[in-house]
Amino acid sequence: MSRQKRRSSSAASSHDDADGEAELRSIYAALDARVAGLERNCQARTRCCRFQITGEHPLVTRAEARYMLKGVRASGRRAVSIRSDGACPLLKDDGRCSIYAFRPFGCRSHFCAAAGGMVARREIADLIQRLTALDEKEGGDGPRSLPEAVAAGEREATSRRRRDR
Ligand code: SF4
Repeated sequence: MSRQKRRSSSAASSHDDADGEAELRSIYAALDARVAGLERNCQARTRCCRFQITGEHPLVTRAEARYMLKGVRASGRRAVSIRSDGACPLLKDDGRCSIYAFRPFGCRSHFCAAAGGMVARREIADLIQRLTALDEKEGGDGPRSLPEAVAAGEREATSRRRRDR
């Protein structure tokens, strides 16, 4: 099956979405449990959420972007606005993540140097493989930077709503 065909068939099925979300939550739970066993000391300085400082963005897959947007809706917002200061659009003014329970793999595994550094790839290679397999199953085209992935997720949600009307 071509990548394009996979994208169309998966987008048409809410059952597939539920399966994809269940797998994503399972991956996150496994990652969180593994990180809990490592020595990390996050002081919530939010430097890693301020992309203009680090020059880096977390990479986010299609299923993750969809899940993040579920978190956005759960927080009562209808849309995500780009911040003029270049920080993550999901960072609140009080310095907290507005979708903490829904944050993507990259945010769960990234710690600044002061907090102990990123989780080593070898510690989570199997989970990255599962995330990649899920992305392929869902017709994703690989991870994108967080702002791009969220914007693409918003476009997907809008076209779904139009189609379902
Ligand atoms: S999703 Fe949350 S944890 Fe991740 S960069 Fe944005 S504000 Fe920070």
